Formats: sequence, C-alpha cells, structure tokens
Amino acid sequence: MPQSQAAPSPTVATPLPNLGDGNDMTPAAEKRIGDRIARELYRDPDYIDDPVITDYVQGIWQPLLAASRQRGELLPQLDELFAWEILMGRDRTVNAFALPGAYFGLHLGLVGIVTSRDELASVLAHELSHVTQRHISRSMSRQAAQAPWLMGAMILGILAASKDPNAAQATIVGGQAAAVQSQLNYSRDMEREADRIGFTVQTQAGFAPQGFVSMFEKLQQSSRLNDAGGFPYLRTHPLTTERIADMQSRVRQSDKGDAAPVTTLEHAMVAARARVLSNPAVDELRIWAQQAEPANLAKLKPAAQVGVLYGATLAALKLRDYSQAQADLQRLQQRTQGDGPGARLTRLMSLEMALVQGDMVAAALLIKSPEVQKDRSRAALLLRAQTDTLTGRADSVAQDLQTWLADHPRDAQAWQLLAAADAAIGRPVAAVRAEGEVNVAQLDFASALTRFKAAQDLASKSTLQVDHIDASIVDTRARQMELLLREQALEH
Ligand SMILES: [Zn+2]
Repeated sequence: MPQSQAAPSPTVATPLPNLGDGNDMTPAAEKRIGDRIARELYRDPDYIDDPVITDYVQGIWQPLLAASRQRGELLPQLDELFAWEILMGRDRTVNAFALPGAYFGLHLGLVGIVTSRDELASVLAHELSHVTQRHISRSMSRQAAQAPWLMGAMILGILAASKDPNAAQATIVGGQAAAVQSQLNYSRDMEREADRIGFTVQTQAGFAPQGFVSMFEKLQQSSRLNDAGGFPYLRTHPLTTERIADMQSRVRQSDKGDAAPVTTLEHAMVAARARVLSNPAVDELRIWAQQAEPANLAKLKPAAQVGVLYGATLAALKLRDYSQAQADLQRLQQRTQGDGPGARLTRLMSLEMALVQGDMVAAALLIKSPEVQKDRSRAALLLRAQTDTLTGRADSVAQDLQTWLADHPRDAQAWQLLAAADAAIGRPVAAVRAEGEVNVAQLDFASALTRFKAAQDLASKSTLQVDHIDASIVDTRARQMELLLREQALEH
C-alpha cells in the first residue's frame, strides 16, 4: 500500500478547517476520492475476494441495503452514483470502516470473531449509516475535496497504519495526516446517529436486535484482553458506556428485542474459514489443523464443532496434507448431512479440495451432482467454471459466465475465469478483452487500455478467423478507456 505523500503546497499542510454544512463535499467529489482509494486497495496484496466468504457477507449486506432504501435513508441519487461495495482485507485485525463513495472495508479478523450473522449485520449497518447520512462528506472540508488525490493518499496511509500498530508513526506524515484523521473522525453526534439509524436498518432487515448489544460486549471484552492494537475498530469507535446503555434500551423497546442471535452451522463454518485465511503462516495453519482432534472437539457446542472441523479441513488443505484434509472432510460430511447450508459448504469444500489437488476426475464427478448443478451461488458458479475449463468443457463455461457478467459486470474473478475459458476455446481476442475487463472492474483503466489495445493488435494481425463482434467490442472499450483516462487527468 502506498504511503502518504508529502504535501505539494503549504496550504494543505496546515490543519484543514471544517467549513460546515453549507460547504459539504458534493457526492461526485466524494465518489472520485473513493474510487482512488478503492483502486489502490484492489492492488493491495491483502485484498481478498474469497467467494465463500463474499457470498456470506453479501447475504447480510444486500438485505441491509434494501432496508436502508425502503426506509428512505439510502436515497436513489446516491444509490446510483456510489459503489456500495465491500472490499475484504485478509488482515487479522478486527476492523470495518466506511470510505468515501460508499466503499467499505471489512477485515477477515472481524468476520473470524463474530458469533452470529446478526453481530456482523450490526457492524455493517452502523458503517452503512455513516455513508447514507453523509457523515464522510460532512467531515471533510471543501479544501479536501479540491485535492482529492492527496485526500485519497492520506486515507490510504491511515489504513496502512491501522493494520500495523508498530508502523503507525512511520507511515503517517506527521501533522498533515493528523489533520486529515481529525477530519475523518466522526463526531459523537455522528456516532450516535449511526448507532440509531444502523439499529433500525439492522432490525428492519430481519436481524436480531440483540446482535448489536452482543457485538458491543464482545468488542469491549476483547479490548480488555487485547489492547495491543488488534482492534483498530475500537480506536475509531470508542465504546462509551453511554453508547452501550443507549443500545440496550433500544433493544428493550424493540418488539423483537428478546430474539437472541444464533450461531448457525453456516456462520461457524464461514467464521472458521475467515480465521484460517487471515493467517497463511505454516505454524498458524498447523494450530488450526490440530483443533479438530476429537478430545478438543468434544468440549465444544455442535455448531462450533462443525466450524472447527471445517477450519481444520481448510488448514490441512493449505498445508497440502491431503490425507488429513480428506479424513477431516469425511468427518465434516457426517456432521452436515441433508440439504442445509452446512451441507452446501461441505460440498463446495470437497470440490475446492479436488481442484487444489488437481484431481479432475473427482472434480468433474462432483459438479455433475444435482446439488452442485442447482447451487446458484457465485462460489458454486466460479468452482464449476474452473472445473469445466480444466476438463475441456470451456464453451458451456463461457456461456454461464457471460450470463452472470451481464448482471455483475464488475466481478473481476468471473472475468478472469472467462479469459481462461475464451483462451481454451480458441477466442484469443475475447480472452485478452476479458483480461482488460478484470482491470476495469478494479478501476485500473490504464492497464485496461493496454489490454484492449493488445486485443486490437491481435484482431488486426491474426491470421486466424476473428469474430467481428469481438473486434468491434474491443475498439469501443479502448475508446471508452481513453476518455476515462483523459477525465482522470483533468482531476489533478
Ligand atoms: Zn462509527
């Protein structure tokens, strides 16, 4: 992640005055800053789009967005203009944050410690409400809006520092960044508002209100045990006794107040997956793999047992200890029979395992099962696509992926798989175009232009027969990129 840069002129090095409500940053300016930040985050080695975890988080996020729209908090203009996108980070630190332009950061560390989807929903609803209530634009001054690249660089510096408490002083450029940080720290009123609106959005979306309270309690307990910097969320969101008391009284007044959050099998499995993926170090993986020993499992509740077993299977797979992974998978299958979400995640794990081991016979057999065929999740689609491409059925993959991409044009992983499928079926121009679309999805328009031009070259020089539709698409896309890049250059 790039570090904060020196100020280009003395005017931005001095603390930036907040010019108040009359000078709110326009949504378009906020969006530009958000896009700059997101572009860097996609390139960050810690950025992770794990389809299983992403599906689970989207299953919480989309209902929150829908409730926020329904309540009139999320206005159509912002809905259309902003991204409303969650970018996941591999980091073990417990953190979630809203960025300009409705990009949201969510660390695997947080997903790994929550014990129910209601708790995760409460954190996301709070962050969502910071954006729908325009807290970010109200915290940034007009001057900040006029130097969006600087603002973007500083926010990135703050994010880098928040991940590594020891590096905090080194990565932030003294007083300037402190000034920006103070601009981005929400006021107590804003925190109260995000709690209040977040609570109504979370409950209207059907989550247990108690999730808010248990999340607060969890963060408070964890911070007592661990103040070594593992909880940057707390530094930006201090849990005052007032906030906790407010929330408890809201829960009491809610008609669903006594509905307790439940740790489902699916939640336990996804949280375990997040814990394993957040730390790829061999020693850590060995610890996760050993957790599934029967004597250890016996101490846990049934859902937690399945979670630990799932995490151990994944850890063994990452360690390439395939016999252990296979043995753990069998135990997992025994505990997740039937047709529920737990069984579904176990099936996807067996497919993932076959692909990692390169056992294409097993993988091809698995995707033929009616359960995997009818699984409409993105995780299942992407695993099916990998399997089909590697087993000579790339043409049907290309069709499935194109259908998906028509509705989800910013899905970089799907474009990447389409590039592989197009290459496999002898459509080189379409394959290079799909690679360019990966760059577009991650807002890297310069790299995209390079790919689209390469595709144009290929189309003009190729002695192979080139699809005219493919050729005309890359011409259009190259022109669009040139336009976007010219607009970006003008923003400086
Ligand atoms: Zn907050």
